[in-house]
Amino acid sequence: MERTVSPAAAAADNGTIAAAAAAPPPPASTSPPSAEDPALSLPGARFVRRHLRQLAPYTPIEPFEVLSARLGRDPSDIVKLDANENPYGPPPEVAAALGSMRFPNVYPDPETRALRALLAPGLGVPVEQVLVGCGADELIDLLMRAVLDQGDSIVDCPPTFTMYAFDAAVNGASVVTVPRLEGFKLDVDGIAEAVKESGAKILFVTSPNNPDGSTVSDAEMERLLSISPDCLVVLDEAYVEFSGEASRASWVPGRENLVVLRTFSKSAALAGLRVGYGVFPAGLAALLWRAKQPYNVSAAAEAAAVAALSNPAWLEETRLALVAERERMSGLLASEIDWLTPFPSRANFVLCAVAAGRDAGAVRDRLAKEHGIMVRHYSKKELSGFIRISVGRPEHTDRLLEALRGL
Ligand code: PMP
Repeated sequence: MERTVSPAAAAADNGTIAAAAAAPPPPASTSPPSAEDPALSLPGARFVRRHLRQLAPYTPIEPFEVLSARLGRDPSDIVKLDANENPYGPPPEVAAALGSMRFPNVYPDPETRALRALLAPGLGVPVEQVLVGCGADELIDLLMRAVLDQGDSIVDCPPTFTMYAFDAAVNGASVVTVPRLEGFKLDVDGIAEAVKESGAKILFVTSPNNPDGSTVSDAEMERLLSISPDCLVVLDEAYVEFSGEASRASWVPGRENLVVLRTFSKSAALAGLRVGYGVFPAGLAALLWRAKQPYNVSAAAEAAAVAALSNPAWLEETRLALVAERERMSGLLASEIDWLTPFPSRANFVLCAVAAGRDAGAVRDRLAKEHGIMVRHYSKKELSGFIRISVGRPEHTDRLLEALRGL
């Protein structure tokens, strides 16, 4: 087991962020702002808080319009398998709802009442314990702002969704890193030791995990929850719909230190509308209401989510299509591309090890430039020999396979 209490180097899933986290006052290991960063010499940079001046530039995953200009291809000719988006799009009721919004001139409901009333019964929790955010991302940041005092730490288990480490950096918190074991398994003993030693306030657990798609068992969850009553366990279930496993949202009312996060970005195909939600212990929920931006969820986002829920058959059909395609794509990658080894995944993406002798970054670049196929490659050392491929429609898999055969 390797553990580090470190400034975080983070690469957010939807882009790449190299960030230096510093618990103010900055620890000795925090380097001064780089003299080479041109942003630091621009007017106004000096006003920014010291630990934020150390954040490295953000390289976002590009939307269709930008990709289209960069690759010289029509958006319809780009196969976008780099951000775990849902290629089927939301049910048609969403476009209808957005096109017929009655009061876009009026601020949205700060309590997202319509959406929460629909969500709570399905989750098996009181409506007061459900909070909606501008994506699950906002709720991760909100939690940190609400829970962490200066100098507090979180436990992060990489490789995983790097937003946790990024938001810790933004919030001036330290990151205690407990790397995953062989096969991306959580090091539960290591986590227990790290939480006890560091007194970390939040532990982030992702199931299915991004980028490998593995899940956490009930027994592991029970153990993690029992490590310390003072450590909040945040279970990120962004991809749970593809896992074949039940959400653990209904566990929350019975425990004081569990939060479950969900999103409409993946299974409901609303990534562009930005709407996610969480189930929180009652007292935490009550205080988060006060700390959040009042109008954090736009009227369009709430209307879209409500409309998506009105067509469960669509959501189920597209979910099943993606799960079936994940299995077909994994099978084809394993049998036809001898230099790729796909990991078993319970999400809507498949992580593949690229055989030694091939440069995974070059694979990503050639797929993009020569074929208009976008996949995810990571600059972080432990993942530099991998690519992550989101599950698309069958025709996307076919085009991917044809391109990979020719590389
Ligand atoms: N959690 C995980 C594990 C993710 O991979 C992502 C998105 N890539 C999110 C949360 C963010 O979800 P949202 O779009 O709702 O902000």
